[in-house]
Amino acid sequence: MRQIAQIDIPMLTIFRPIAIFAPKLLSLFVLMMVFSAASATDGAQTPIDFTPAEKAYIVQTGSIKMCVDPDWAPFEIINKQGQHEGIAADLLQMVAKRVGLRIELYPAQDWDASLAASKSKGCQIMSFLNQTPAREAWLSFTDPIFFDPNVIITREEHGFVADAKGLQNETVALPRGTMVEERVRSDFPNLKLVLTSSEPEAMILVSERKADLTIRSLIVAANAIKKEGLFNLKISGQIPEYTNHLRIGVLKDEQLLRSILNKGVQTITPQEREAISNKHVPINVQQGIDYRLVWQILGGASLALMLAILWNRKLSALNKELERLAVTDRLTGLFNRVKLDEAFEADIKRSIRFGQAFSIIMLDIDHFKEVNDVHGHQAGDQVLVEVARLLKDNIRATDIAGRWGGEEFLVICAQTDAEGVLKLAQNLHLKFQNHCFPVVQRKTASFGVTTYVEGDKSNDMVARADAALYTAKNNGRNQVAIK
Ligand code: GH3
Ligand code: MG
Ligand code: MG
Repeated sequence: MRQIAQIDIPMLTIFRPIAIFAPKLLSLFVLMMVFSAASATDGAQTPIDFTPAEKAYIVQTGSIKMCVDPDWAPFEIINKQGQHEGIAADLLQMVAKRVGLRIELYPAQDWDASLAASKSKGCQIMSFLNQTPAREAWLSFTDPIFFDPNVIITREEHGFVADAKGLQNETVALPRGTMVEERVRSDFPNLKLVLTSSEPEAMILVSERKADLTIRSLIVAANAIKKEGLFNLKISGQIPEYTNHLRIGVLKDEQLLRSILNKGVQTITPQEREAISNKHVPINVQQGIDYRLVWQILGGASLALMLAILWNRKLSALNKELERLAVTDRLTGLFNRVKLDEAFEADIKRSIRFGQAFSIIMLDIDHFKEVNDVHGHQAGDQVLVEVARLLKDNIRATDIAGRWGGEEFLVICAQTDAEGVLKLAQNLHLKFQNHCFPVVQRKTASFGVTTYVEGDKSNDMVARADAALYTAKNNGRNQVAIK
């Protein structure tokens, strides 16, 4: 704006009118801003598109007469000053303002008087009611102006009810003869009914533990909980199919009015409805979030997760154990042939690659058959276990000892040359001689030793160690031979 003002005099004449009108444009702009801000706060984002007939009706009519329920808190009441108050009152005022009509209240004593006045055309509209076939006889209806769900009311300790069909052996207190009673009977045969003569009584029965739940309009229930101090009650779920769709009822012969009001109703946003509702009954419905249930689910989930972790650990421990068993000799706990073959290949590769020496000791217990023959197979087993222990205790950490088969053992000595392996074999030989074995006390063994020679396969080394062992046996056993 300021830029337009500044282009003023020195500019070409074509800009002169702009320069002259700039201040006026500015004020017009400000006015428009103020106006649009005002209408924005009113909620009507876009102007309502009325037909010429509707526009004419609005201009001609100016105000309309409205019948209400004078005693239906918190939806609507007529207060001591004779004013219409409550959720319906606020909503209707909002609609009227947006369509440009004024509302005159018809001061009826009670709901029946209002109905009668409406039927006799004493008022053109009824503020807030469900559409029913009976009412359709003289009224037509706008779209719903307010949705009031029927909710499940339980005591505080009850869990969230996602679906009332899932409830088992629970009693529901309901006012006799209502539409809800009729529907519950057919929709929820799983519930046991306790009938009452009034709505408050149904809530009291729940509060006093004489029934498990009741089903009631959310707004009315929330208001009653607050007003009657039934603080051990809560809203535990809703039945979406039972939602009340509250509308404006318009005399059937006032079709233009119905259409005007409907356009107004359609401008009301859910946020506006909620704000008005909260102004009268501050409630927070559990829309599927029951924190107790959430915690239960979270608890369950963490438990399942923990179990899964434990199970996984157990599985991985089991797998490790399986792997260990796959390479372990059952009787002695030494490595078995599988592992010995693996280790053999690995050491051969290492020797080829790094030129490292490595050697093996083949060991066979002397006259072991006698042990079985004299003392029994079990005694033989005990001796085998003891031999294994003796080996484990007398080899180096880098050596691998395993059971080659029967009463033969193999020690693979990494990075060990002929001299080294001979020393180790002699040491083992000595240890055997001095060891006290179970049952038999003394037992000797023969040792065949060999060292890796370039180009060796494991079989070649085993064959040489066997040959050395054969030599040792032939030379009288209880000795070490090297090949
Ligand atoms: P040598 O000095 O010539 O080696 O004589 P040996 O008696 O030790 O050899 P031989 O091969 O004649 O007998 C080996 C015996 O070892 C025969 C077999 O029953 C026994 N044996 C092999 N495995 C086991 C085992 O797991 N437990 C027991 N108790 N005995 C076994
Ligand atoms: Mg043997
Ligand atoms: Mg033997």
